[in-house]
Amino acid sequence: MAWGVNVQRWVGLLWLVGCVSTEVPDRLLAVDGYGGDYALTEVSIPELTDPRRMQGSLGNGEVGGVLLDEGGRVVYRGGGPLVIDYVVQDDVGVPLDGDAILLWSYYRSLASARQQLDEVGISTDRVFPVDFVFQPQVEGFSLVATNAAYVAGGGHRFLLLADTVQAPLPLAANPLVIRHELGHAVFQDVVAGGVFVYDQVIFTDARVAALQEGFADAVATLLLDDPDVLGQSLPSLAAARDVTGDATLAEAAPVDEDPYSRGTVHASFVWDLRELSTRELALRATVDGLVAWAERQGFRDDDDPVLVDRYARLVLEAALAEDPSLEAPLCEAFVRRFGSFLESRCS
Ligand SMILES: [Zn+2]
Repeated sequence: MAWGVNVQRWVGLLWLVGCVSTEVPDRLLAVDGYGGDYALTEVSIPELTDPRRMQGSLGNGEVGGVLLDEGGRVVYRGGGPLVIDYVVQDDVGVPLDGDAILLWSYYRSLASARQQLDEVGISTDRVFPVDFVFQPQVEGFSLVATNAAYVAGGGHRFLLLADTVQAPLPLAANPLVIRHELGHAVFQDVVAGGVFVYDQVIFTDARVAALQEGFADAVATLLLDDPDVLGQSLPSLAAARDVTGDATLAEAAPVDEDPYSRGTVHASFVWDLRELSTRELALRATVDGLVAWAERQGFRDDDDPVLVDRYARLVLEAALAEDPSLEAPLCEAFVRRFGSFLESRCS
């Protein structure tokens, strides 16, 4: 509701003040914050070189079209160009409809997330650019249930969809959601060995999907450095994916029933690490652990019962390589979450 009211106020105001512009202003109006407390603010997004057509160094946008399942691969066909109408006031671009604020906010989230990863030494050069599609049709994909999505399996694209869950802020404009989806893109790159690689095991294995969701939640909560960001962004899902809760492997649902349940055990362990160290160290260990996990290619062993959970052990090792003094408290957290069967140094 607040979203509609805010946008209407701006649009009402703007009706009086100017004509549609093609000028590229220094700053753009976008969402700041998440959950119930967001506001509109003026931001600089230098990566978005053409805010009218949503094109820039992070990727280009299209609207409409359809995503099809062609023999297991996701293929996108038939989109058209996006055109945003805005006016420029005091060097600030102010869009004339709410979709435009959503799209600029999306781009801003991507830009700031990339910068945050750069700052801790995690390169996303192989991930960007990522093109996106605004409100495509999606046929036959049960995986696209909500909001925003990353098309893995070689499709390498973000989808910005209408919300199907109730949220304070449209989810495609939500900094958490975009960071979570960027986490999926990083996962695809690291585990599949490239953003355009189609690997059927990675694309379809429920165990890999569970780890992927946990990794994406870990990336999002660490980048925003807020364990409750999920609760504020998606109140209806908050309890199940709370990274500060008591999630343990012993009580997690089987991966083929609920990929988030087991993933949350991993995201929670990473948050334990965050509380014991720093956001920067935790982020690096989260990604380094994934690189080590992917190198082992263990996910190809069908009968490996601790496949997914081995990831946490590798995060532990990556963290201790950077700061050995974490061993005692981190082992305590590890054993609490995973038990001792993972042959870690904590056993
Ligand atoms: Zn996800």
